[in-house]
Amino acid sequence: MSTEEPSKCCVCGEPTTKRCQACAQSGVDLFFCSPEHQKLVWKHHKEVCGPNAHPFRYPPLSQDEVGELLALEDAPVTEQHRSEILASCPTVTDGASLIGIAIGKAALQQPTLGKMIEGNWGVPTGRFAEFLQRLSAPLAVGYSSPAAASVSNALFWLRHEISLHKQEICANTFDAFIRTPFWTNVSQFDNIPWAYTSRPKDFVADAPELSVYRHRIVVLASLAVRRQHQPDEVPIAFLQYAFEQVHAALGDLTPRLSRAETLSAINPILEDLHDFGIRLL
Ligand SMILES: [Zn+2]
Ligand SMILES: [Zn+2]
Repeated sequence: MSTEEPSKCCVCGEPTTKRCQACAQSGVDLFFCSPEHQKLVWKHHKEVCGPNAHPFRYPPLSQDEVGELLALEDAPVTEQHRSEILASCPTVTDGASLIGIAIGKAALQQPTLGKMIEGNWGVPTGRFAEFLQRLSAPLAVGYSSPAAASVSNALFWLRHEISLHKQEICANTFDAFIRTPFWTNVSQFDNIPWAYTSRPKDFVADAPELSVYRHRIVVLASLAVRRQHQPDEVPIAFLQYAFEQVHAALGDLTPRLSRAETLSAINPILEDLHDFGIRLL
């Protein structure tokens, strides 16, 4: 931690000049007022701290997540996923977007999740399990390489699938959240990738603001999980502040995102937290 430009602790909102040094070296400023508050989210932050703080890269699949995906291989693509891809169509404005949508729609022709993933990621038929095992290994290439970006993107979409299927079988979002591996929960909160589907050309995937937004999401999800186990350590005000920070980070993305896209990114988080009994507004 160093003592330069002042900001606010990303856990409690107190003014501070201390920040995570490893992240600062990657160009992302995450402030923590005290070692205690850094420790509160360290279990999860450490997986995206340092070299992969920016560009932000999702950590490899856990064995739990591999298990979830293997169990879903023959499951049909969720209705929610279909509607998300179709809903992104009206915002299409250029040729590159049309290609993106065409790929998405072609994927919807596939009867099962396994087939859709094989089609989307160029996985040879029957190599689904092998593909997942590769994604559960640590990244073998530099974090800023295009290959790392592609792997991170695949990790996001696979987790999104787990999350959608979990929500179909669970009574409510909260029930799904507590029965879902952590990084899958993060991908449930991370609603920005929808902007890629409709705006692949002008959206800069590795903008620093986007990494900051995702770190805020990780802090929020980490605090939400921690509160389930140790309610005394995470007062509701921390979650409120973490949510406000996600909202503010989205605001910083506004030149790249339309107001409608910003709302469609923030509203699901708000609804999820509401289901957890966390009323923020
Ligand atoms: Zn603090
Ligand atoms: Zn860090």
